Amino acid sequence: MTQAVDVVVIGGGQAGLAAGYHLRRLGLDFLVLDVQAHPGGAWRHTWDSLHLFSPAAYSSLPGRLMPPQPGETHPDADHVVAYLTDYEQRYELPVVRSVRVEAVRRDGEYLRVETDSGTWRARSVISATGTWSRPFVPAVPGRTEFKGTQLHTVEYRRPADLTGQRVIVVGGGNSGAQIAADLVLDTDTDTDTDLTWVPLREPRYLADDIDGRALFDHATARRRALDEGRTDTGGVASLGDIVAVPPVREARDAGLLKAQPMFTRVTPTGVEWADGTHVDADSIIWCTGFRPALAHLAPLGLRGPRGHIPTAGTRALGEPRLHLLGYGDWTGPASATLIGVGRPARDAARQIAQLLR
Ligand code: FAD
Repeated sequence: MTQAVDVVVIGGGQAGLAAGYHLRRLGLDFLVLDVQAHPGGAWRHTWDSLHLFSPAAYSSLPGRLMPPQPGETHPDADHVVAYLTDYEQRYELPVVRSVRVEAVRRDGEYLRVETDSGTWRARSVISATGTWSRPFVPAVPGRTEFKGTQLHTVEYRRPADLTGQRVIVVGGGNSGAQIAADLVLDTDTDTDTDLTWVPLREPRYLADDIDGRALFDHATARRRALDEGRTDTGGVASLGDIVAVPPVREARDAGLLKAQPMFTRVTPTGVEWADGTHVDADSIIWCTGFRPALAHLAPLGLRGPRGHIPTAGTRALGEPRLHLLGYGDWTGPASATLIGVGRPARDAARQIAQLLR
């Protein structure tokens, strides 16, 4: 059975919900499809100790401030899941769960959204599928020969799972630094973890006083500069790679985060550098990022450089009925953050309303 609707939003994480909020305000007929059985998007897949970069008030979707978490300046992931669950209910957003979108195709004046539980015809589609379901691991020689355990960021949960092990953490972004700190600061067990941290390049810490608030202010100032035709000051990446959140700062200042250069190959028992130095390991954690989950859009043939789909704001250049939301700065400054996604979500909803008129 095929049902027709004005707009299908694919993905019910923070970006999909922000889109839903604005579509509802504009009175559009829409639904949100999400493959997961429960709300929370990527926040259901983080490690136990992860806390937001920003206080709650700076981590809010449009319309509803995130309440503070008692006892925490920076809320944890469970608090975000609770906030998103409440947000969805409060605004009565029509989220249909446990539905995987498999393909979006052109179908005359509609886009056909094919799923594992039926097909919808939509006059417009917002894709907000995030990145967590597409972990990226670089092709390092020998990787498949390793006899120990290999994890990606998305599979790491807590230091106790690796107690007493020799662990190599690869990656110098926030995930790599935070997981490395998590392992070396663990005081719950008697046996230490033996950490080798390989951040791919010299770690670039942001100044200690820069947190999510300052990052958002920077992204906002950049957007204003671009809108007014002034010189591009660079995205937040120009400030550094690692937000010095309290555990990272503590581990760094205690000299526990010693960066090693990138090794040249993985061996069956560890990793090896070009000069023949070898470090044995029981586990390797690849904190090497994610790619946008866009496979369902492949039939539209829109793929551009670096696996992205070229956009003007959120609108796909090759298909004006399609918007992409939340994946990163390429779909709007800071649009992969709770506080940053509101504006591109509003712009996408307004453009869709105009298109449908
Ligand atoms: P997601 O939350 O991934 O939601 C996408 C949804 O789409 C998911 O529910 C997924 O299951 C669903 N989906 C995917 N494919 C399909 C399909 N084919 N069919 C149906 N459904 C599908 N962000 C902040 O705002 N503040 C912070 O302080 C912050 N700190 C962070 C710290 C670290 C260390 C890291 C790694 C990330 C941090 N983030 C932070 C980023 C944040 O975790 C993600 O960027 C954000 O959750 C992305 O939201 P999203 O809605 O775009 O995607």
